[in-house]
Amino acid sequence: MKEIVVISGKGGTGKTSVTGCFAALAENAVLADCDVDAADLHMLLAPEIVKRTDFVSGHEAVIREDDCTACGICREKCNFNAINLTEEGKYRIDPYGCEGCKVCVVVCPVDAIDFPENLCGEWYFSHTRFGPMVHAKLGIGQENSGKLVSTVRREAAVKAKELDRDMVIVDGPPGIGCPVIAAVTGSSLLVVVTEPTISGKHDMKRVLELAKHFSVPALVIINKWDINPEMTEEIEKETLAGGAHPVGRIPYDRDFTVAQINGRTLVEEKTGKAVDNITTIWEKVCRTLR
Ligand code: SF4
Ligand code: SF4
Repeated sequence: MKEIVVISGKGGTGKTSVTGCFAALAENAVLADCDVDAADLHMLLAPEIVKRTDFVSGHEAVIREDDCTACGICREKCNFNAINLTEEGKYRIDPYGCEGCKVCVVVCPVDAIDFPENLCGEWYFSHTRFGPMVHAKLGIGQENSGKLVSTVRREAAVKAKELDRDMVIVDGPPGIGCPVIAAVTGSSLLVVVTEPTISGKHDMKRVLELAKHFSVPALVIINKWDINPEMTEEIEKETLAGGAHPVGRIPYDRDFTVAQINGRTLVEEKTGKAVDNITTIWEKVCRTLR
């Protein structure tokens, strides 16, 4: 089973639109949305949720007010300033500030602090018109997106095995932080979607360094290449210098937006000058995987 991760150094390069097109062109894939902080692949693929599972990660401290003697020791010892004293003289833990270190639980002289597991979000198994999909939603203010990305990838791989699918197509998170590392490590191929701007070049170089570090082969697509042909050439040179390969260019195409508004992928709409480019790029991606 091969795993393609579509990634970009930053948001707004057309990564999800390209992933949606790949999903439409693939014949036997499981889809995974690992952009868990700002998931939007569902807007193109309209998944029908079949199964929901809680995503639990870490712990959160909670004071039982009836047992608390208001000694203030926990507040004094919390290194994250997560315990507040209310005007009524009650000690309360801010769930968004608590890092789950357990110090308060240990120091409380009357054992008045519970330490339940932290419900951080949900992940889903769904059906789409292009096949099965695993996706997720991180709770507001939660920071365990790297772990949730790993969960989505793992579950997508399990489904691919179960359903005898030969490929997982992952919509990766933007940037180069922890969630991206969680999406990249151990994958078969990265497809980096960038745009011909200075920041596009800069971010692409950082992603290629990451790919190199984790020994994952990488291909680069330049989206909207015709808005700056000189920069496109520069990026293609940088791609080769970074040990990756340019796999194709996609012209600026308003029909991408029209397709998005219609909740469809560009290749389904079968209009727009970029359709042929994307189809050719997908064929090259498949050849690279063989
Ligand atoms: S678990 Fe740690 S971070 Fe959370 S309130 Fe207690 S001491 Fe502070
Ligand atoms: S250490 Fe325990 S008893 Fe003291 S304020 Fe905190 S929760 Fe209340």
